[in-house]
Amino acid sequence: MKIDNSTSSTWQQMDAAHHLAPFTDYAEIREHGARVITHADGHYIYDGDGNMILDAMAGLWCVNVGYGQQSLVDAATEQMRILPYYNNFFKTTNQPVAALSQRLAEITPDGLNNVFYANSGSEANDTIIRMVRHFWALEGKPAKRKIIGRTYGYHGSTVMAASMGGMVDMHRQAADQPDFEHIRPPYAFLYQGNSDEAEFAAHSASLLEDKIVEVGADNVAAFIAEPIQGAGGVIIPPAGYFDHIQAICKRHDILFIADEVITGFGRTGHWFASQAMGLAPDMMTLAKGLTSGYVPMSAVMVGDRVAQRLIADGGEFYHGFTYSGHPVASAVALANLDLIEELGLVTRVRDETGPYLASALARLADHPIVGEVRSYGMLGAIELVKSKDGPTLFEDVGKAGALCRDHAIAHGMMMRAVRDGMIMSPPLTFTTQDIDKMVDIVTLALDKTAADLGIT
Ligand code: PMP
Repeated sequence: MKIDNSTSSTWQQMDAAHHLAPFTDYAEIREHGARVITHADGHYIYDGDGNMILDAMAGLWCVNVGYGQQSLVDAATEQMRILPYYNNFFKTTNQPVAALSQRLAEITPDGLNNVFYANSGSEANDTIIRMVRHFWALEGKPAKRKIIGRTYGYHGSTVMAASMGGMVDMHRQAADQPDFEHIRPPYAFLYQGNSDEAEFAAHSASLLEDKIVEVGADNVAAFIAEPIQGAGGVIIPPAGYFDHIQAICKRHDILFIADEVITGFGRTGHWFASQAMGLAPDMMTLAKGLTSGYVPMSAVMVGDRVAQRLIADGGEFYHGFTYSGHPVASAVALANLDLIEELGLVTRVRDETGPYLASALARLADHPIVGEVRSYGMLGAIELVKSKDGPTLFEDVGKAGALCRDHAIAHGMMMRAVRDGMIMSPPLTFTTQDIDKMVDIVTLALDKTAADLGIT
């Protein structure tokens, strides 16, 4: 279909009349209409009203290589011509998925040597839930069913993945399955108080042990965590937190699962945050940066302990999706991994743009409505506050964040607000000049927000 850019409102009306978009207030969208994104190139997205917007969110934390990468387009085109589809159910496979599986086993942490594919992070996490329960049943411990996650954790939108996540608004809308527990995350900005980093790390991790004791280790299958909580507000753990967590999991024989849907594929300046933080997860969730979002694909990396049990005496695993290990998605993923390597994006983030982002954000710390800035690789957050004394948070949570986000968009940059935290997750191809531009627009948005709120 040829898109006619001159009539944005026609598309908006058509959309509002029939499209129930994800995470959307339908009354609001019917009143105002959605922004029609027509095309994208490099680090910019373009809308039907002629706006050019710097994408400081890499879509939804996923377009790691930026837009318009011809090698990914070519890989998809070529694979569609050769083999657009065949399933992997009936003792069949395809060449791209075999090659991708070997590649993922190589680049992920040691001990994660097997992979199950799905189409979204949510499906991958649902797969994990089934797999760990199946594993414990095979181990002769079928009572080990409960999974412990964290408040503000996000693991997806299916009924099970949302129940496992820690978003209470989602739980309230029928994502409240039994056998999921949640502990408080190590969110230093809110909870550290006067304790030092080591104390805070130890105390935050001890909450897991308390929960295991409360529920009974015989009933707990796994603990799941994003190494850095993304959708919850870019919550970066204090040093040592995951050392304590892993020791607790070992002590109680509980599987440790790292959801690296956001933190994978170079975002932290390492292939995976697990490598940056010294984590040895039993399983790992991957999506987003696996294909840089060009086509849908997700994966569950399965560690040797679980895989060997499934292989030895699991029998048939009654689970899978029509598009598990899709040849076109696999070919795009391989081209994407090649490109990340060719451009040296992982080390660029580690050695150049990650540290540059940290120092650029640090300059905002003195702003009157900024309570804290933090970053890790190419993930950044700025906490807005009513007053730097205390600091004091806004009573009407989310209002200042939404104002600031809207100012940024009006000035040509896509940024996200989580409560009153401003979130950035740009493509890994961002240069230091792009970071300067991003921080300039953030500064403008902060100034305008402070003016709106009468804070000087
Ligand atoms: N896990 C994490 C950490 C995520 O950030 C997301 C998506 N934002 C998901 C899982 C779910 O992925 P999807 O939206 O592809 O289902």
